[in-house]
Amino acid sequence: MNKLLSEVDPQIVKIAQKDLARQQNALMLIPSENYASRAVMEIQGSILANKYAEGYPGERYYNGCEFMDEVESLAIERAKALFDVECVNVQPHAGTQANMAVYYALLEPGDTILSMSLSHGGHLSHGDAVNFSGRYYNVVTYGVNAETERIDMDEVSRLAQQHRPKLIVVGATAYPRQFDFAEWRRVADSIGAYLLADIAHIAGLVAGGAHPSPVPYSDVVTTTTHKTLRGPRGAIVMCKAEHAAKIDRAVFPGLQGGPFLHTIAAKAVAFKEASEPAFKAYQAQIVKNAAALAARLTQNGFRLVSGGTENHLMLVDLTSKYEKLSGRQAADHLEDAGIIVNKNSIPFDKRKPRTTSGIRLGTPMITTRGMKEEQMHLIADFIAETLENRQKTAIKRRIREKVAELCTQFPIYGYLSAPKLPE
Ligand SMILES: *Cc1c(COP(=O)(O)O)cnc(C)c1O
Repeated sequence: MNKLLSEVDPQIVKIAQKDLARQQNALMLIPSENYASRAVMEIQGSILANKYAEGYPGERYYNGCEFMDEVESLAIERAKALFDVECVNVQPHAGTQANMAVYYALLEPGDTILSMSLSHGGHLSHGDAVNFSGRYYNVVTYGVNAETERIDMDEVSRLAQQHRPKLIVVGATAYPRQFDFAEWRRVADSIGAYLLADIAHIAGLVAGGAHPSPVPYSDVVTTTTHKTLRGPRGAIVMCKAEHAAKIDRAVFPGLQGGPFLHTIAAKAVAFKEASEPAFKAYQAQIVKNAAALAARLTQNGFRLVSGGTENHLMLVDLTSKYEKLSGRQAADHLEDAGIIVNKNSIPFDKRKPRTTSGIRLGTPMITTRGMKEEQMHLIADFIAETLENRQKTAIKRRIREKVAELCTQFPIYGYLSAPKLPE
């Protein structure tokens, strides 16, 4: 049991090294991803993975949990302080499980949920037909206004009055504007509904003061820990004290077995990092970078959904410049140039979800690398040049070289020279 990984399994090491090179040598603009810190990864790959600890601190179903209790309690205390919230459950394995726990705790099968439709920026776990949530609950959706491409609170209010949902979900996976959570609370109160804020995408912004917090206005708040929050893959559920017992029972034993204490320890490390001044500066820079990228893309002739961004991401409406170019094709061309984005439906998209007319861009990862407005300018121009010359392989290759050069100036994990590009 003392052999190094490189001795035991060189094959898997080689694959990981190839992905390290990929992560170093390309520009990652997927807004839901980030580079977790070394400290986070170190504890996640530790001996804390060896323990079963079903239950909660002080009430475990296994013996030998003394230090597991310390780990989990520390994670809970830090999350409570970071988000200024009454209660936290740090056990959900992922964002979808966190949302499941909320539904399981507060609803009965067949109850009505009002949430954002997937095609306008909502998440699968908010009641989409292909997800468990769409099968077990009666889901009514709101979208964005066709003119403003922003959520229309009058429509939300009207739908709430008409359908009287037991739970309203506010939160999105592809929405470039801020949420006015006080307004959402008013709508929920007008019909006596619970309010769930799913801040999976913007949790880092909220923790760092770059987006208003939903905590004072929500019954429950869920978030992943691996997106802008820059921790390990996982999630947490935050709630008012009156819901805590129900939420805890829903997570375990309702939906999960043993918690991942190595991941919970890594969440604790991430919460500590997120409480430091450098994190506040990081989140502010994410937003400034997104604004700079958006402005330069607009100068390059692209129309952004809703006209811009107020957070870490933006949606580019490709039809505004290239009628025939789909989001899927654009994302593939950009990958040829070393720029990783994902295709995304735009509101009222005429193309199917697998094709789409848009791409979604975010700045969390390139900001983690230390890039600023000056680099956003360059990147927007790389994107424009790539799409303009999408049929010209030599030009795309030249841009890829420039991208790799830029990446070398901003190494990840302190690698001073970039690992070699894989063939
Ligand atoms: C990413 C995301 C989730 C789910 O996260 P997973 O960890 O992938 O299950 C939930 N809600 C929103 C709004 C998200 O963006």
